[in-house]
Amino acid sequence: MSKWISFFEEGSSKEKELLGGKGANLAEMTNLGLPVPPGFTITTKSCMNFLEKETFFDTELKQDILKAIKKLEQITQKSFTEETNLLLVSVRSGAASSMPGMMDTILNLGLNDQRVQTFAELTNISFAYDCYSRLLQMFGDVVYGVNKDKFTHLLRNLEKRLNKTKQEFDKNEQQQLIDSYKQLFIENNVTFPQNPLDQLFEAIKAVFKSWNNQRAKVYRELHQIPHHLGTAVNIQSMVFGNSGNHSGTGVVFTRNPATGENKLFGEFLMNAQGEDVVAGIRTPEPIDSLQTILPDTYNDFVTYAEILEQHYKDMQDIEFTVENGQLFILQTRNGKRTAKAALKITLDLVAENRLTKQEALLRISPDTIDQLIHPIFDEKEVTQAKLLATGLPASPGAATGEIVFTAEKAKEYHALGKKVVLVRQETSPEDIEGMIVSEAIVTSRGGMTSHAAVVARGMGTCCITGCEALNVHEESKTILCGNTRLVEGEVISVDGSSGRLYLGEIPTIVVENDQNLQQLLTWADEHAELMVRANAETVSDLQTAIDFGASGIGLARTEHMFFGEERVLEMRRLILAEDKQEFDFALNKLLGFQQEDFYQMFKAVQDKPMVIRLLDPPMHEFLPHDTNEIKALAEQLNRYPSEVSKQIEKLQETNPMLGHRGCRLGITEPRIYQMQVKAIFNSAIRLMKEGIIVCPEIMVPLVSEKNELDTVKNFLIDTINQTFKENQVQPFPYEIGTMIELPRACIIADQLAENADFFSFGTNDLTQMTFGFSRDDIGKFINSYKEKEIMIQDPFQTLDQTGVGELIKLAVTKARQTKKEMLIGICGEVGGDPHSIPFFQKIGIDYVSCSPYRIPAARLAVAQASLSK
Ligand code: ADP
Ligand code: MG
Ligand code: MG
Repeated sequence: MSKWISFFEEGSSKEKELLGGKGANLAEMTNLGLPVPPGFTITTKSCMNFLEKETFFDTELKQDILKAIKKLEQITQKSFTEETNLLLVSVRSGAASSMPGMMDTILNLGLNDQRVQTFAELTNISFAYDCYSRLLQMFGDVVYGVNKDKFTHLLRNLEKRLNKTKQEFDKNEQQQLIDSYKQLFIENNVTFPQNPLDQLFEAIKAVFKSWNNQRAKVYRELHQIPHHLGTAVNIQSMVFGNSGNHSGTGVVFTRNPATGENKLFGEFLMNAQGEDVVAGIRTPEPIDSLQTILPDTYNDFVTYAEILEQHYKDMQDIEFTVENGQLFILQTRNGKRTAKAALKITLDLVAENRLTKQEALLRISPDTIDQLIHPIFDEKEVTQAKLLATGLPASPGAATGEIVFTAEKAKEYHALGKKVVLVRQETSPEDIEGMIVSEAIVTSRGGMTSHAAVVARGMGTCCITGCEALNVHEESKTILCGNTRLVEGEVISVDGSSGRLYLGEIPTIVVENDQNLQQLLTWADEHAELMVRANAETVSDLQTAIDFGASGIGLARTEHMFFGEERVLEMRRLILAEDKQEFDFALNKLLGFQQEDFYQMFKAVQDKPMVIRLLDPPMHEFLPHDTNEIKALAEQLNRYPSEVSKQIEKLQETNPMLGHRGCRLGITEPRIYQMQVKAIFNSAIRLMKEGIIVCPEIMVPLVSEKNELDTVKNFLIDTINQTFKENQVQPFPYEIGTMIELPRACIIADQLAENADFFSFGTNDLTQMTFGFSRDDIGKFINSYKEKEIMIQDPFQTLDQTGVGELIKLAVTKARQTKKEMLIGICGEVGGDPHSIPFFQKIGIDYVSCSPYRIPAARLAVAQASLSK
């Protein structure tokens, strides 16, 4: 191997980064003894050197290429420059990650005006000239950017004029075609180099440059492939699928890439070369029919396909060419497949004893699981669609619907049987009913843990937040997005998995939550060390969570229960109460609601643990803000609107996130927390009487000082004891723990542990408080931070291990110094993030808790974390 070049027999599939995927696999296949036409790979490093400084080509690379060509001539016993025994080559790009069709390939390189005649004498005219005209076309396109279609246009014109097909052209007519092609070069102020070596050099440089062409860049961005890798270039001696009726070319998957069925799936075209199969010039035939046309070749293919699957332990996507009945394999790679096929293939490989269960678990990416439980857009259709804007991928899935700007309109349209997408600057709890009936939710503001994002994930509705390019005017019911103006009722499509918003309708594909997924997740559970719980509080969400395999509920937020119309009125009455009597009236009503809620919730989760968090948000979140609503509320409460309005104003806080909320509110107004625990224990006692034993776990939010926890805990215990007494039952076990969501709480975790039965990290607040970024405003700058590489990830999406993670680690260590066996969980959004889970496992967390729809992926991620320890 020279410094910049590796012959196929020198490389292996392990060297994808240096040789590109195509080159590495050509090397691997060569060493497996498969019929691969000989050749060599110019490394990705050479490409990057060249792209940095073009003189590198002449000063260093050229010498190595010349030597390699000499060697290839010896191997093939052919000549690249002489007139006889022609060596023709293909120049094939190939990056480390496959980028199908994104970069360029040139075939039949080495032909020129002279050599094509020799070639014709050795073979036949129509074939030799077919090769030459193809070379001119590909060379013109790749090296000089002359559109391929212009060549095709010339060909069609000539065919029409001569009234015959290219195959029927005589030598003169073939020459006419070549001349017209060369004329096209001249019209573009370039000439086709006659010297094969010049052709080769120019082609290699062009392939290097194709790394930076627009479509390759866009593809890399779409698939998150780094831009600094470069492409390798493979120089390979040609074999000819266009050399007659016992020749052809094809592409075959060893299993069906859409369904996973274990049956060869693909097509071939007789007497054809390269891209003809996909170009749709003639209709290819299904691979099965090769069995009748060339049975021996077909059998060879089956044998090689089997060898390749066995070797790579995965479904392969194979490109092949047949020259006069002889089969050559030109490419293999792990085939791209749908999520459904990925799962089936992996399970089948286990059943066939080719993979172990552990390998299978490591092979499926948790993102694939998301695609199995949410609809996705048909990939082909997406490429045609008009991209409007990109925001944060807040909740996965894909949906199309008519734009509405208010929750009311969403409900109204929904009642008419229309599908709607709710577009707002940001959502608030009052929008909940509109959000429930929407196919998708889009907000121009807010981050990954904004109200819209959290609620949408909980419901499994697809959602984009922080879509800053949208100027949403809720009053005039319009959106301005660059030059596009959208109004109510217009159709948009939302991809919550990528954060992309498209104009018009895009068809979706739904894959059902099937047996195969259950199977894989059952295996996952066998290897899991961390448990996976759910963040849920409504009975339907709790049910979904349990169906998805949650081992318990890590976070049931009680405030969500106050947002129904009837309830929010009582909550408002309580907040605005003028005297104890009114306060008690409202409190008692709320007690009634909560009691029934907890009863239903406990019943839904049965013997599984459930952590109930006491009221967390600041009071004014429950109050109306626009004048009409205030007026309506005043009427209901029998007050003057101005009075109510004044009270609401008084409750406003300069910085509500840092304000009078969580246990702070619990301490200044203990009656609310007392009502909540009373409701919890009344329902637990009711269930006990029905024969269902529950162990309530109560979580106190936003603690930063041990005295806070002690104070709250003391009055909670009093109330609990009183409740036991009132119900005349023997006390039963329960737990009181705290949420760790402030940096100070992490630092004094050893003290807090003295009086807490359990901890659960609220990573949303903890991230917000550690960085000092508001999670609702991060959308304003996170994209710019990512572009400038100040931050690689949104810390609300994937745990910031170096900062927030270090605080969590410290807290875990300190807590366990006080209480070795204390149960510690994570209940923020990053609990469900597959990239954060390995860290939680490493620092000794017991469970993660996430929204119900993220549970399947989290179960897999948890198993992967244990398996790859
Ligand atoms: P892509 O990465 O776009 O698939 P390839 O480099 O695989 O591009 O080339 C496309 C097709 O060109 C191959 O599938 C094969 O049919 C044909 N081809 C490439 N090299 C050769 C060769 N040495 N001999 C015959 N056909 C070739
Ligand atoms: Mg290919
Ligand atoms: Mg919090």
